[in-house]
Amino acid sequence: MKSLAIIGAGIAGITLARQLQDIAEVRVFEKSRGFGGRMATRLDGPYRFDHGAQFFTARSKQFRSLINGYVAKNQIAAWQPRVLTLDTEEKPFKREWFEPHYVAVPGMNNLCKVLAQELNVILDTRVANIEAGEKGWLLKDSDGEQLGQFDWVISSSPAPQADEVLPECFAYKSELSDVAFSPCFSLMLGFESAPKLNFDAAVVRNSVLGWIALNSSKQGRPPFFSLVVHSDNEWAQEQLECNLDAVRHNMLAALDELLGDQLPPPDHITIHRWTHAKTEKSLEEDFLLDESNRLAACGDWCGGNRVEDAYLSALKLGEHLKTILRREANP
Ligand SMILES: Cc1cc2nc3c(=O)[nH]c(=O)nc-3n(C[C@H](O)[C@H](O)[C@H](O)COP(=O)(O)OP(=O)(O)OC[C@H]3O[C@@H](n4cnc5c(N)ncnc54)[C@H](O)[C@@H]3O)c2cc1C
Repeated sequence: MKSLAIIGAGIAGITLARQLQDIAEVRVFEKSRGFGGRMATRLDGPYRFDHGAQFFTARSKQFRSLINGYVAKNQIAAWQPRVLTLDTEEKPFKREWFEPHYVAVPGMNNLCKVLAQELNVILDTRVANIEAGEKGWLLKDSDGEQLGQFDWVISSSPAPQADEVLPECFAYKSELSDVAFSPCFSLMLGFESAPKLNFDAAVVRNSVLGWIALNSSKQGRPPFFSLVVHSDNEWAQEQLECNLDAVRHNMLAALDELLGDQLPPPDHITIHRWTHAKTEKSLEEDFLLDESNRLAACGDWCGGNRVEDAYLSALKLGEHLKTILRREANP
């Protein structure tokens, strides 16, 4: 069997690993302490916050079929919030959602956790270096420690991070550097006493904020009133190098301007910076595959900027790699 290293335990990396685990020795390396990547959930005291992806939609047959299986097991649920558009210059208005929106239960990261159950995933391990070894690609972590040698290496991280780690010989370096991402700040607020809001989710216009969600309105979350507030992506780009205290201050002031006396002061405040949050310019290819060097890359940025795009990119790369691996096994 060929050996395969996958970088990243987000939805793309985990989907790819599941597809190939029966025909290759697959090991997934993840730099953070948990599964899910940008499908992230944080527990802070009694509060639970989905501070990355808020929900996912399913427009393809393939993704719908995955989702349906987990809906049946109560690990995915439909989310039907009361949605408003809040505008600093106009009156709020109600929005309709015309397709089902789903969340993983009890947190967004749980989908990858469940999908990864049978996989060999090494957490807390950043792949910092990939060099040619005697028997394939030699991977090293940030301390220079060897992580093993592999026939194939596939990155599922955002394109700029893939560009940093994949070797210079990768045939699609210029495609990687052509992909553009924007950042986002995520403010997490917990309230001991529940304020009364007339919405569960809001798209925000003409503000430094872009989105507000009552996280505790999603199925399976603790009942404690918790809000996730996302910044506008363009504003985040301008603030990227700023001190987080200043960003938090500006976001809280913008929230106050929007909701004013509807919200008491929060009892809990945390902020997170997503450097690569949203694909602004995607590749418009399903994946990048350099067969002669046995290197590849996939992720949401190949075809879009959503959870489903990440899933489909990995699924399609997996199908392609299966054919190659079978051919390599039976030349
Ligand atoms: C704030 C925010 C809001 C969003 N809202 C939505 C939404 O409502 N709906 C929606 O569909 N999508 C949303 N998205 C986008 C969605 O989260 C992504 O499209 C999807 O999660 C991408 O999955 P992925 O597997 O391609 O990448 P990621 O989830 O980014 O996974 C890549 C993984 O690689 C790891 N990694 C990177 N470099 C290394 C390395 N050198 N070594 C080891 N590990 C490494 C990272 O830690 C990460 O876990 C949102 C994203 C953000 C940030």
